[in-house]
Amino acid sequence: MNRPSTAPALFVSHGAPTFALEPGLLGPKLKRLGEQLSRLTAVAVVSAHWQTASVQVMRTAAPGTIHDFGGFPPALYRMQYPAPGAPALADETGALLEAAGFEVTFDERRGLDHGVWVPLLYLLPAAQVPVFQVSLPFASDAEQALELGQALKPLRQRGILVMGSGSLTHNLREMGQSDPGHTSYALEFTAWVRRQVQERNIEALTDYRRRAPHALRAHPTEEHFLPLLVAVGAGGDENVDVIDGGMTYGVLSMESYVFGGPAAG
Ligand code: ZN
Repeated sequence: MNRPSTAPALFVSHGAPTFALEPGLLGPKLKRLGEQLSRLTAVAVVSAHWQTASVQVMRTAAPGTIHDFGGFPPALYRMQYPAPGAPALADETGALLEAAGFEVTFDERRGLDHGVWVPLLYLLPAAQVPVFQVSLPFASDAEQALELGQALKPLRQRGILVMGSGSLTHNLREMGQSDPGHTSYALEFTAWVRRQVQERNIEALTDYRRRAPHALRAHPTEEHFLPLLVAVGAGGDENVDVIDGGMTYGVLSMESYVFGGPAAG
């Protein structure tokens, strides 16, 4: 059997659940990326929507599709993403995390939250590659999210895509407001993050709440930004490709990043 090729790390902005129905700029770009990732063993996801006290690894054999949102169009609640789970890889991931000093427990029943299945509808629409999640501890700060990503990095050599799923900006209270001033702060924040990611300025990224323009406005809470640090940690020093996903609802930046991806070899 061939050794699997090394898989990239990915930060994906999933924006609002309606991304599942409205591909925008990002949907087709994720689809093209997915078509280039033909030999993935599995996908390991750290999503903004699974936070726990300490790290949990999902080892569900056939995870359900969780519709963890309210007040959206009925079509969204009918959507399913029937990818298999990966219990054996989840066990290995748990061991890897324990070796890196994390306290780990396993979840045998959890399904895939919308931070996982919505972007995967575009990236891997056939839903045949096994998917499992690693939770984001509530107490994580940017530094700890980076360490979580670093601990997951070896999975990539096994052909496992390590994906952090959040949103590059995430102030839901400002969604859909038409004041152009709203968009400009989100664009400024996005541009700052892009520069730090491209220069791999870890010090600035982990200190983003003090250094980035409009950081507290772009992220009133941190859980949608931290998956970026996970992807940065899993990406190491490898080349980064920016996926310009544009802006949805005026203030939700869909910008995403691939580390060690196929576009650059
Ligand atoms: Zn979200």
